[in-house]
Amino acid sequence: MTSSTALRFFSAQDADPHALDGERVVVIGFGNLGRAIAHNLRDAGVAQLVIGNIADEYAQQARAEQFEVLPIAEAAAGADVAFILIPDEVIPEVFEADIAPNLKAGSAILFASGYNLAYELIHPPKGVDVLLLAPRMGGELARERFLNKQGYVAYVSVEQDASGKALKRLLGMAYAVGVLYAGALELDAKREADLDLLVEQTVGAALGVAIMSTYDLGVEAGIPPEAMVLEMYMDGEMETVFRTFRERGFYRASYTHGPTAMYGGYVRTMQLMQSDLAAKFRETLEEIQSGGFAQQFQAERSAGYPALTMAEQMASGDNPFVQPVFEAEARVRSALKIS
Ligand code: NDP
Repeated sequence: MTSSTALRFFSAQDADPHALDGERVVVIGFGNLGRAIAHNLRDAGVAQLVIGNIADEYAQQARAEQFEVLPIAEAAAGADVAFILIPDEVIPEVFEADIAPNLKAGSAILFASGYNLAYELIHPPKGVDVLLLAPRMGGELARERFLNKQGYVAYVSVEQDASGKALKRLLGMAYAVGVLYAGALELDAKREADLDLLVEQTVGAALGVAIMSTYDLGVEAGIPPEAMVLEMYMDGEMETVFRTFRERGFYRASYTHGPTAMYGGYVRTMQLMQSDLAAKFRETLEEIQSGGFAQQFQAERSAGYPALTMAEQMASGDNPFVQPVFEAEARVRSALKIS
């Protein structure tokens, strides 16, 4: 373990490989992350492993992959450690109805996102360990990086230690699911949730606006749609930019661009900094930190997901505004070798 000021990083050496010996580990949910985590735990040698899921196709898939599957309430009742891997906005009702009332005293619950704890959408009982193990990857990569021992970074924290062995269990789980091949940083649930939403809703949103509006501008100026999608993401150059941020550092990465790109990037970034973008990001942060965004998302669920349905229509191409982009991407993909 290394620390600077109060910040703690954890690596594989900090975990007791026998921390989960004799513990019955339950994975609740067999979706994107749940399935990968379940496979990783099994391959890591967790002997008593059970999936909690409602009786539908995810449960069938888990059984087909030789997991023991129980209804969520029954699985929770038998758990020493329960990793709750269902969608964030669904967790409150499932937690209240099926999980919380059945937990044994001294057991542990883990969350892969601080969201519900941070915005007080759930209130775990006093007698259980409450742990955060929040990977920065989806299930596919979490599985791939477990198999090749590359690991994947996660934020971890002990939110409540009822058993006296909460940290040992947390690091045991982080080790078993493959996180600690890479390492983990301690961050409490509130700051993890604020951070996650902040980056999604500022960096993610600004990148989305930049790509969408630059596409429109370029096409309007006579640049072929195929060239626009190639330049902005299909030729892979943007991936190398982000890889260089990671490998060399964010500012130092500028040296990899020529002087024209460095000069243009610098002056335009400074201009944008003086627009109202930073003020809008601050408003976004305030809405996130106050729990306003979480309330808004629960209302979205209660209303039958109207905004998410529109977003999904765009994502699937079922929207006239995005059709030209889908078509340009398909033409590029069939004409060039995109890998
Ligand atoms: P998924 O959407 O893939 O979860 C699907 C699972 O949730 C299925 O087992 C599904 O079962 C179950 N589920 C859905 N609705 C209900 C319901 N009403 N009642 C009971 N079970 C339900 O979730 P993710 O794997 O994406 O996310 C799980 C957690 O991991 C979240 O906390 C998320 O923030 C976190 N996380 C996700 C990452 C990602 O990239 N996906 C990355 C890092 C963290 P069924 O359909 O059978 O009901």
